[in-house]
Amino acid sequence: MSDVLTYSDLESWSRESPSLAVLGHPIGHSLSPVMHNAALAALAGDDARWADWRYFRFDILPEDLPRALSLLHAKRFRGVNLTVPHKVLAFDQVAEVDDDARPVGAVNTLLWTPGGWRGFNTDGYGLSAALRASLGLDLSGLAVLLLGAGGAARGAAIECLQRGCASLDIVNRSRTNLEALIEHLRPLAGTIPIHARPAAASAVKGALVINATSAGLRENDAVPIDLASLSQTIGIYDMIYNPPRTALLRQAESLGLPHANGLSMLVHQGAKSLEIWTGVPAARTAPIMQAAAEAAAGRP
Ligand code: NDP
Repeated sequence: MSDVLTYSDLESWSRESPSLAVLGHPIGHSLSPVMHNAALAALAGDDARWADWRYFRFDILPEDLPRALSLLHAKRFRGVNLTVPHKVLAFDQVAEVDDDARPVGAVNTLLWTPGGWRGFNTDGYGLSAALRASLGLDLSGLAVLLLGAGGAARGAAIECLQRGCASLDIVNRSRTNLEALIEHLRPLAGTIPIHARPAAASAVKGALVINATSAGLRENDAVPIDLASLSQTIGIYDMIYNPPRTALLRQAESLGLPHANGLSMLVHQGAKSLEIWTGVPAARTAPIMQAAAEAAAGRP
């Protein structure tokens, strides 16, 4: 059986021990199996309950997602993670959605229940925990400059609002997508000021900059914003972790600004998923997952 499994592997699945899975398309690049299996192996060293738990990866096409989720439930997988392009698609296919995931409109973690899958979104937790762990920052009371208006930006924006940021400024390449995101956020913002900003956001001062665009995924991508055009920036968090040092992070380094890549977010959302499935606190498994992910991805 190959490391990357397919829908037909699922059809013939006969493993009876507790199984977990990540579904995506493509999925070969995912670090989740390495992180989760390292954490499960470490837990099994102290407690035999976890000895037979394993985490698998499946390459599933978007059109196969409904029947894949039904089969995974019938085969009694304990839990499922979803990555690109399934997070939004799965939202409408689960039996129940956790309150924290509802405003995001996307789920990345499913828990087996007798009545069907219960959907959660641990990306927001992952971002908050990553900012604390890698930059020593708490979103509460912070001015945030968010780059991007796609799915990751929406999740990040909602986390910033739910954690009580002081203000939220958003920059995006396409004006239409930016305005749609701002419209979505308005009812959730309460008294927190939110603004759409032009790309040269010179009026933004003292902010934490979060990159939730895909600019930087390719080695030659330009920076999504010129950090030199901002003032008193307190830190840069780039949600991209592969490559580990984007042009934005290189510029942050050259300006002497605190910065971190998105590996810590991946780790903390993963540790929270494992907590949902096993009850083991995320704080216990996050360091194990971090070490496994760094070994697999190469340190920033
Ligand atoms: P989407 O496709 O939903 O959104 C992409 C966003 O990036 C849009 O705002 C788009 O702008 C913008 N964008 C794309 N190319 C460029 C460019 N060349 N210059 C400026 N802006 C650009 O993707 P996601 O929201 O799902 O993911 C965004 C990033 O976040 C990815 O890099 C992904 O790897 C990362 N991510 C990291 C996670 C982690 O755990 N660390 C978790 C989830 C995501 P426009 O609206 O104009 O098209």
